[in-house]
Amino acid sequence: MPVLDRYGRPLGSLRISVTDRCNLRCLYCMPEPDYAWLPKETLLSFEEIDAITGAFTALGVDRVRITGGEPLLRRDLTSLIQSLAAREAIRDLALTTNGVLLAPQARALRDAGLQRITVSLDTLDRRQFEAITRFDALDAVLAGIDASATAGFASVKIDSVIMKGVNDHELPALIEFGKRVGAEVRFIEYMDVGGATRWSIDAVFSRREMLDALERHYGGIVPIEEASAAPAVRFRLPDGTVFGIISSTTEPFCHSCDRSRLTADGVWLMCLYARAGTDLRRPLRAGATTQDLERLIAAVWTARADRGAEERLLFDRREPLIPLAALKKDAHLEMHTRGG
Ligand code: SAM
Repeated sequence: MPVLDRYGRPLGSLRISVTDRCNLRCLYCMPEPDYAWLPKETLLSFEEIDAITGAFTALGVDRVRITGGEPLLRRDLTSLIQSLAAREAIRDLALTTNGVLLAPQARALRDAGLQRITVSLDTLDRRQFEAITRFDALDAVLAGIDASATAGFASVKIDSVIMKGVNDHELPALIEFGKRVGAEVRFIEYMDVGGATRWSIDAVFSRREMLDALERHYGGIVPIEEASAAPAVRFRLPDGTVFGIISSTTEPFCHSCDRSRLTADGVWLMCLYARAGTDLRRPLRAGATTQDLERLIAAVWTARADRGAEERLLFDRREPLIPLAALKKDAHLEMHTRGG
């Protein structure tokens, strides 16, 4: 029997952050000059992550995504991929990366059993890349995408956060780039999540605006009808090219959200907008068995009533979710700790 939350949503997908550190400082995620990091001794070992994952798969999780911070900063990540890939219950094992360190690791990740990879890339313009991420690393990311394209992954995707007045003119260029490298592009609305301290509604380039811009460029766009818990709604261009839009800000999809998130120090979050989570590290380190964890996870999930993105729509004046002072006190409120 699947474990269902209060809205009947199953426990389907787990996103595991393996570090809160990142080697970029994207304006929409980490705009501040300094951050408080999770203490080293609190970070879960790979054995601990694998044990916790076992409790989740016993309750129905069959899709796992590794994220961060920047996951490729975590040493020897392939050994975690190997142990997760060996779990038969996981039918989809994916990773989200900014791609900076990907080129030398792509083949080893694939060989370890990683099935799919998503690279975050918001612009193809070198100066714009540096303006958004505060690092001159576009060439490294492009090399990472090239390496992934030939490494044998079941799919390579490109995720682009689109901000009005920053990169909203680049949608066709990103689509054309995706076609060249064989990657499906997904445009993400700028979200008012914790950490996005420079967020304003004026900087959101909405799904409607994305579709209008692409239609002006390419002509008729057709939505693809599919029953899926995936966050992206997909569309087809007249030439058959498929792309996705993740419209968490203006047209959220909480009703089908079966995702939850584990931070690198073992805090389990029901929703990207949640103010607090459930600590799984403490019980694990205090000797909890997999069955004990299953009981705890099932109890929390069945009480889940989160629909954070939809609730944000009810605010008349939307501002960044969490004030800077609160972020400074609790790193768990940050998007880069939660993994996106
Ligand atoms: N470092 C990895 C990466 O860059 O993909 C993984 C972690 S990152 C937090 C995961 C995703 O969250 C990225 O695609 C990033 O663009 C997205 N993200 C971060 N802040 C966001 C925001 N305010 N709005 C929308 N997407 C955001």
